[in-house]
Amino acid sequence: MNEYVGVIHTHTVYSDGSGTVQDLADAARKSGLDYLVVTDHNACHPEEAGWRDGVLVLMGEEVDHDVDGRSDGHLLAVGIQRDVSGLKDDFQRVVDEIVRQGGVAFAAHPYERGSWFMPRTYFWKDWSIDGLTGIELWNFLSEFRGYTKNVPLVLAVAYFPRFFTTGPWPETLQLWDRLISQWKRPVVAIGGVDAHAAVYSLGPISKRFMPYEHCFRSVTTHILTEERFTGTDFRRDEKILVDALRRGHAWIGYEWLGSTAGFRFWAKSGGRDYVMGDVVSGPSARLYIRLPGAGEIRLLRDGAVVASTVGDALEFRADAPGAYRVEVWRKKLFKKRGWIFSNPVYLGFGDENS
Ligand SMILES: [Zn+2]
Ligand SMILES: [Zn+2]
Repeated sequence: MNEYVGVIHTHTVYSDGSGTVQDLADAARKSGLDYLVVTDHNACHPEEAGWRDGVLVLMGEEVDHDVDGRSDGHLLAVGIQRDVSGLKDDFQRVVDEIVRQGGVAFAAHPYERGSWFMPRTYFWKDWSIDGLTGIELWNFLSEFRGYTKNVPLVLAVAYFPRFFTTGPWPETLQLWDRLISQWKRPVVAIGGVDAHAAVYSLGPISKRFMPYEHCFRSVTTHILTEERFTGTDFRRDEKILVDALRRGHAWIGYEWLGSTAGFRFWAKSGGRDYVMGDVVSGPSARLYIRLPGAGEIRLLRDGAVVASTVGDALEFRADAPGAYRVEVWRKKLFKKRGWIFSNPVYLGFGDENS
């Protein structure tokens, strides 16, 4: 299969970001990305979509429903053809419209921690909404909210952000595992950078927090596709990307710990191969994990670790039904940090979706 890497959840001058779409595409190209998904707050500019200097640029949207200091949450739309925020009073209608336009919908920062400097949270509230493809498992920007507990910490986050970034909140990982077991269907996880490159001020100090390139070398979403990008036919390549996200043929990488390109997690069952995101038909499977470098590998079934090792490979015989997913952790700057979070291989989930 073909592997492509990109970032999802970015803001431009069309909402509260500081760069133009071209600025973001330039930063994406310099960061070695294949694709970029722009998601401005309640704004979509499809005329900006296309191939830009070797980067596939999708114009999605982050649909916010924030009223009177209260938030019902934010929704990421990827693969839409025009603005869907006119329906934001009713998230079910927003999701239906995203699906109708051929796109996929993800609950943005589904769990957040607020703190003194950024007390407001915008986590997702309504899990009864039908048609969500999945969740943004790791929001690179949102994680910092939880760390800004006092003035020294705000300054430390502003000047040494890499020291803080650790991984998805444990609550978000638990939420994901819970949704999969409750919904009894695949729930796709993506990474989001939530890049704004905005200037923050604290008294006399003002600083541009997280320039685009910094974000784009951080939390990425890698996809696996059967078809290659054409590099010229935008509509076709957009569909290849959106289909991969819909099917969960994807993992989240934290590239600052080392490139995650080449990571693979697959299953063999009944003479067939399945990749992450697939539902295996058959009662058992042999699972294979390969890494581009060493790390602490954890294989989880329904959120509980069933096998682990330190190294660059792991194999496991899966006999029990469940959602099998991989986490890889690496130590850097005195802390264990999340490096790779794969979508699950699903065993015993009824309908096959591979
Ligand atoms: Zn948001
Ligand atoms: Zn955002």
